[in-house]
Amino acid sequence: MREKSFHTHVAIIGGGLAGLSLAYLLAKDGIPVMVIEKEDYPRHKVCGEFISRESMDFMLRSGMVKTEDDFPLINRFELVFSNGNKHSCDLDPGGIGISRFTLDHKIYQLASKAGVIIIENDKANTISKQGNGDFLINLKSGTQINSKVAVAAAGRQSTSLYKDTKPKADKLSWFGVKYHIELPMDVDLIRIMMFEGGYAGVSAVENGRYCFCYLAKTDHLKKFKGDITQFENVMLRKNPEINKLLNQRTIIEGPFTTSGFHFGYKQMEQDDILFCGDAGGFIPPLTGNGMSLAFRNAVNLHPLLLKYFRGEINWEKLKSDYKRYGESYLKKRITSGEFLQNLALDPGIYIQTILSGSMTLFPFLLKKLSNKATGKPF
Ligand SMILES: Cc1cc2nc3c(=O)[nH]c(=O)nc-3n(C[C@H](O)[C@H](O)[C@H](O)COP(=O)(O)OP(=O)(O)OC[C@H]3O[C@@H](n4cnc5c(N)ncnc54)[C@H](O)[C@@H]3O)c2cc1C
Repeated sequence: MREKSFHTHVAIIGGGLAGLSLAYLLAKDGIPVMVIEKEDYPRHKVCGEFISRESMDFMLRSGMVKTEDDFPLINRFELVFSNGNKHSCDLDPGGIGISRFTLDHKIYQLASKAGVIIIENDKANTISKQGNGDFLINLKSGTQINSKVAVAAAGRQSTSLYKDTKPKADKLSWFGVKYHIELPMDVDLIRIMMFEGGYAGVSAVENGRYCFCYLAKTDHLKKFKGDITQFENVMLRKNPEINKLLNQRTIIEGPFTTSGFHFGYKQMEQDDILFCGDAGGFIPPLTGNGMSLAFRNAVNLHPLLLKYFRGEINWEKLKSDYKRYGESYLKKRITSGEFLQNLALDPGIYIQTILSGSMTLFPFLLKKLSNKATGKPF
């Protein structure tokens, strides 16, 4: 049992994209920061690994990528209906493919170099506010962290921070599965393939590999007693295009799995704890924007914290500005993403489109709506 006590200005719970990038930005400005991460680096994470182009400036500026050509550029999109019908279009502004193994590790290295203290393999169990206004964070190992500011960046399952419980896999929750595969496929293409109760995505990442990732409602998996292989063989293979892919692929890594998550906007602040990334709101992966929103949250919170520590704004002003960003920007994008996902998953829309004979309507709608869920560079 490690029992230590630390003092810092900002304690960030969760060393994913949001937590690490916020820590990196603050440390570069001389603010003492600690990140608590329950796992270690580098490691795989369940993610489609397509990052929208809106993040490119930030990724270049911070040194996460050296040039735009470091990773596969993806600028064509194909939507495959569950019956195998396909529609494709250019993807504007597109994005790049980068594995979470590489990306999270790169930011970890940048943050460490900038002076962030990162505690790995330890879990934040509780956060509480002390009489003097500071936060006390108790870690599983017995370590205690005192901080002036606490940021919850523990991802889509952040509720477990308040109760030391595993996220509940209820009927409405989702599960996700990822593989790295080899596949004969164009590198500039991303394919989204629908199946009953879920959808899969496939696109290139580094080293000539492809990320094949899917998500579906947990109750569909329950019918297969949690057996992923059986689920894939029965549910995914019903889509002839996914069936072809599964026959052609060679699995390099995986399956990696995650479960018990929900989508939607949550909050930017609660009990003076600030939320960043998926912890504040989780956009459905259909739009490929969760990673960009995690970075964007960090980029928005960073100047507010700087001003606060420099005495230029007080705590109430920081909270109200950050909440305004959440309500007026983040919430809208997440709501658009949810709407888009519901539309794509609703079998009624297929029947309508087929009956109306207008097979071009759906992709057109999808493109229009996906523009709403995509943001400007930051
Ligand atoms: C199936 C699926 C596919 C996706 N595909 C895409 C895609 O193609 N493109 C895209 O842009 N986005 C995608 N996303 C979304 C994207 O993965 C997230 O939006 C992004 O990872 C958010 O970053 P984050 O830092 O908020 O959370 P995370 O990256 O989840 O990081 C949170 C971190 O907190 C740690 N943690 C949790 N609890 C504690 C605790 N109590 N103490 C200490 N540490 C803790 C976790 O270990 C984790 O490292 C996908 C998500 C899923 C589920």
